[in-house]
Order: sequence, then structure tokens, then C-alpha cells
Amino acid sequence: MDRQSELEMRVLILAPTGRDAFLIAQTLGAADIQNEICPHSAGLLEMLGHGAAAALVAEEALSHRDLNDLANWLAAQPAWSDLPFIILTSKGRANAATAQKALELQSLGNATFLERPVRPETVSAAARAALRARMRQYEMRRREETLTRVNADLEQFAYSASHDLQEPIRNIAVYSELLSRRYGNLLDGKGQEFLRYVNQGALRMDMLVGDLLAYTKAASIADERPEPIGAEGPLRAALQNLAEAIRQSDAQIEYHSLPEVRMREVHLQQLFQNLIGNAIKYRSRQRPQISICAQKTDGRHWLFRIQDNGMGIKPEYNERIFGLFKRLHGNDEYAGTGIGLAICQRIVERYRGRIWVESEPGKGSTFFFTMPE
Ligand code: ADP
Repeated sequence: MDRQSELEMRVLILAPTGRDAFLIAQTLGAADIQNEICPHSAGLLEMLGHGAAAALVAEEALSHRDLNDLANWLAAQPAWSDLPFIILTSKGRANAATAQKALELQSLGNATFLERPVRPETVSAAARAALRARMRQYEMRRREETLTRVNADLEQFAYSASHDLQEPIRNIAVYSELLSRRYGNLLDGKGQEFLRYVNQGALRMDMLVGDLLAYTKAASIADERPEPIGAEGPLRAALQNLAEAIRQSDAQIEYHSLPEVRMREVHLQQLFQNLIGNAIKYRSRQRPQISICAQKTDGRHWLFRIQDNGMGIKPEYNERIFGLFKRLHGNDEYAGTGIGLAICQRIVERYRGRIWVESEPGKGSTFFFTMPE
């Protein structure tokens, strides 16, 4: 066992008066439970910081201020951690002061109370139960770490694969196109048809890996709070990129005063581009009418709404469409990769927002997403 693991297995004892700490240490030692005495409350936080399985504390050892400091320290611990405390309370009738103290001690969260005088077996049984609970928490931490690592490896793999595949795929697309143009007349009808399939396949693959790359990039959005930006700039940039589709479909797009949000411009632009691009692509027979607006919700979030009068979506697909590669249409009907909405979801969730759709077939769809202010 390394030094860190050893520290994480110990029970800290804080009972500064009399021989209490010494006796408890002896009891735990006899039960094969590693322990260490903390001489005074001021040192407890530091010792906890180095690692501990549990803390066994005499209630009078913690002042109001100590408890406050401890509560702050506990609140800053990672989600897997719920340090067990065993509190030795004083014997006697409950009064206002002890009731108040008991209340304060509850701020420690995972606390078990043992009334003194307490039998040695009771102390070691409580310590053993606390140790067991702590072992489970360590196991949870280990799983969480493994999951994070495996996830990061997968992200890296997806990123490298999609990044490195781009060049050879583009070569196939470019050279099959050249081959067709320069030497197409040397091939018979079948040969030309095959070459066309090669070219179409390469173009589709290019689109897929391009979208996959954008998806993996969205995973690396830093956990930061960028400076606020006006949402109108990214919207205009998205509309600029969609200019050809807007012209061809004669789409009518309106937007009302949009707020400032704490997002990176590229991310908001991508959201608008994917959602408005879809609103145009999945249009109905009518002229596409798309409106974009935002309103304050609970005072801490903006709710964006992108509404279209397109073909709509059956309710049973409302969640599925946000999945990676999930599409409701064949590629021959509508070109696409099924990655666009997955990218949107990833971006929104990275900023701690939510995205969803409300829709009815034939009546258009409204995509909503929230963004913290
Ligand atoms: P893609 O457009 O490449 O298929 P998306 O992830 O952007 O991938 O969308 C997933 C599916 O959701 C689409 O295939 C389409 O069936 C459906 N969809 C998305 N947006 C709309 C919309 N505005 N109206 C109707 N259907 C939509």
C-alpha cells in the first residue's frame, strides 16, 4: 500500500481532553483499525486533507467556528466523497444548548452519534461500519476515474480517427472526380457508373467525418464562463453560411431582439446553423417560415426558441433525434449524417443548458434550448 492509500485508511481521532483519545486509539488498534490522534481541532482539517477514512470526534472538541470550517471543507469535496463522522456526545438530559449543538453537528452530513460512556466494542463496531462505507466511496471514485479515463481515450480516438481520415477521403473524392473528367471517355457505361459511386461514397464519407470531428470538438469545450456575447452576431454569421439554402428555399426568417449569453461565438453559431439548416431542410410544401427568439425563464436562464412550419416530427422520435447518427430519413431522401442535433445537444449540455423539441407532424417543429446567463 502506498503512503496515500495508507492515510486514506485511517480513522482520525479528535478528543483533546483527558485520556479519551488514547483509549479510543487503543480500542481501534486492538480491532485492527488504523488510526491517528489529532491533538487539536485546528489540525483536523489539514489531516483530513491528507486523507482519512472517517473521523471520530468528541462533540465538545468542535467549536462553532470549527464546525463552520468543516462544513465548508466538506462542501468542497468531490461528489463521491461523504466522509463518515462518529460523534461522541455527552451524557445527560437534552437542553437548549445540546439541542443547538446537535443541530450544528448535523452540518457534517454523514454523522453517527454515540452517547458516552460508550463501550469499546460499540466504538470499534461504529468505526468498522464507517470504514466499510468509506471503502465503497473509494470504489465509486475508482470507477469514476476509470470511466473518465476511458471516455477521454474514446474521445481522443474519435477525434484522431475523424481528423486523420479526412485527408485520404478527400484524395479519393478529388482523384475520382479527376479520373472521371479526364479519362471518363475511356470507360464504358458501367465503368463510369462505378466511378460515380466511388466519388459519391467519398463525398458522403467526407461529410460524415467532418461532422464527427465537429462532434468530438464539442466535447472539449472548456468548463469556463466566457465573457457575454450578443447572440445576434453568431445568428447573422449562421444565416450567412446558410445563404444559398435560404435563397433556394425562399425561406423567410425573422428574429427578435436577442440577449447576451456567456458562450463562445463559434458554439452559438453552430447551434443556430444546425437548427436553422434543419428547419430549411425538413420543410413542408409551404414556404419555410422560421422565427428565432429568446426569453428569460427563471431569472438565471435564457430560453431560445427556433420555430419552423416544416414537416414536423412524430412525438415518439422527439428524444431519439438527438442521438448520434439517428435520422428519420434515408440519405437518398435528405442528405445528412444524423450528427447535427447530437452536436447541438453536446454544446448546450457543456454550457449546462438543456435542449429539446416540441413538434407535431404536418404542423412544424419548435426547438428549445436554455443557456445560463
Ligand atoms: P441530419 O439532418 O444530418 O439527418 P440531425 O441530427 O440534424 O441530422 O437531425 C436528426 C433527424 O431529426 C433528421 O434526420 C430529421 O429527421 C429530424 N429533424 C431535425 N430537425 C428537424 C426539423 N426542424 N423538422 C423536422 N425534422 C427534423
